[in-house]
This record gives sequence, C-alpha cells and structure tokens, in this order.
Amino acid sequence: MMRIVLLGAPGSGKGTQAQRLMAKYGVPQVSSGDLLRDAVARGTELGKQAKSVMDAGQLVSDEIVLGLIRERLSRADAANGFILDGFPRNIDQANALNALLKEIGQPLDAVLLLDVRNQTLMQRLAGRRICQKCGTVYNIHSLPPGTTTCAKDGTELYQRPDDKEEVIGKRLAVYDQQTKPLVAHYSKLGLLRKVAGEGELEQVFERMEAAALAKPVPASKVKVTKTRAASKGKTSAAKSAKPAARSASKTSAKVKAKAKAKPAKQAAKKSAKKAAKKPAAKSKAPAAKRKTSAKVAKKSSKRAAAARRPAKKAAGKAPAKAARRVTKARKKK
Ligand SMILES: [Zn+2]
Repeated sequence: MMRIVLLGAPGSGKGTQAQRLMAKYGVPQVSSGDLLRDAVARGTELGKQAKSVMDAGQLVSDEIVLGLIRERLSRADAANGFILDGFPRNIDQANALNALLKEIGQPLDAVLLLDVRNQTLMQRLAGRRICQKCGTVYNIHSLPPGTTTCAKDGTELYQRPDDKEEVIGKRLAVYDQQTKPLVAHYSKLGLLRKVAGEGELEQVFERMEAAALAKPVPASKVKVTKTRAASKGKTSAAKSAKPAARSASKTSAKVKAKAKAKPAKQAAKKSAKKAAKKPAAKSKAPAAKRKTSAKVAKKSSKRAAAARRPAKKAAGKAPAKAARRVTKARKKK
C-alpha cells in the first residue's frame, strides 16, 4: 500500500521519482493538472464544468478538482495506492483532501517532501535546455561544454522562458510560500517525511522508496530470524571450500583469464580439484585435527571465509570484466 502525497519544488526531480515509484509499485501518479486536462479532453461532466470556468479565465474550484480526484481514485488501478502530485497546495485543500480520503477509506500513508537546496534547484532549472524538434530535455551542466544542438537530430536547443533565472527565483519563492504551511501541517499530523533529493538519481529513488514504505513497527512484532542453522551450514561449506579458496586466490589471475563465461563457483570447484591433487597431504592433515575442537574449527572456518571472500570477488568479477574486454575488442574491429 502506498498512498502518498508528493511535495517538491520545480526542479526537485519530483516528476521523475514519481514515475519510477509508479513503474515499480504499480500505483498511479495522480496529478491534478493531468486530471483536469484529461477530463476536459474527454468532455466528462466535471470536465465540462472545468472548461467553462477556465474559458472564463478563472481558477478551477477545489470542489471540481476533488471531484476529479475522487473519480480517479475509484478506478481499479488505484486499489493499491496512489501518488498525489500537485494537490493539495494549501491547508484548505489539505483538509478537504483528508475528508475525501477518509470518506472513501483510503487515508494517506505519508507525505514525501523531496528536499533540494535552492542553489541546486536554480542550477538545474537555469541549465535546462530543450530540443524544439523532439522534446528531449538536456542540462548544460551535464553536456560537453559548448554544446548547443540536440544529440539526436542536431536541432538548436532552446531555453524555456520560465527557466530564465529571474523567473526561476519567482517560481521558487511561490513554491516556498505555498509549501511551508503544508509542511508544518503534515508534520503535525506525523505524516511528513523529508527525503534528501540531491545526489545520484538511483540513491534518491532508494530514499524515496524507504520513506514511502517505512512504517513504524511495534517492537513486539519484530521477528528475529533464525540464522544459526543457516550459518552452520555455511561454515561447513566454507570448511570444505578452504583449499579451493586458497588456490583460487593464488591463481586468481589465471581464473580471471579462464573464467569468462563460467560461474564463479564452478571455477572455484575446478581449482579445488587441482589443489586437492597437489598439496593434498598438507591440507588434509590439519583438517582432521580441526575436527577435534569445535572452537578451533569455528575460528578456522572464519579464517576460511575471510580467505574466500577476496577470491570469490576476483572470480566473480572476472567474467564481467572479461566480457567487457571482449566487447571492447569487438567494437574496435
Ligand atoms: Zn532533438
């Protein structure tokens, strides 16, 4: 279940993050702007009302928007939740929304605030350039310096008038003014979760997910999973893999070269066989001794695991690296 309201300044990446949440969790992004446009285009009852208001140059009432939201949330795809975007914008709307969601039995789980510093927002928005032909959005900060045309079709890039710095300043000020009371309102209700919105897209998404799904879990319900049996099984495996690990780390260069398509485990097994053939007497004798003392066995298996780690890493990474090398070589041709 993911019933959330998204708050975020222009340029915060709110739209992108909403789309990713939508794709991963199968809940619709419900934007008041889209709802209005859609209703007008389809000529529904509410759409007709909205159109006449807009044609008269007036703002669409909260009542109409709430009606659209109600309609939208009753559709099947909103059964597991929704991501509300662009609504509410003030306390009155927040209260009205709360009443509606209560009435239809779909109360909010959380309000996510995608938090990005003004300086960063300014940079992102002011750097935005759009291809007039294909609509691709670029940012001059991530383009090679001096780029002025679209990489796809060579069309000259342009800057939207409201992405000019002086306009951005106003947009951000309006956002702040609108959002501050909402932030206070939702934090009083215990629903607000701030998400750090700077950094890699992927990391921001992980934070968004965590914030959207996090729910306080009562201590009595926290299950302590039994890992003892599992780790016992692992230690015995580690024991038997010890010689393999050793030889694998020694021959990791060879493994790298050979392992190309072979899974790491297989490679390890193979070198285990080799190892068994050569220093067999050496490695078997201490193993037998180890059995006599559980404590010693535990220690040595820890050591074995430690020894195995780097080896496994090397063996595991090798195929990918090798594959990359191969594709590089192919490209050259
Ligand atoms: Zn283009």
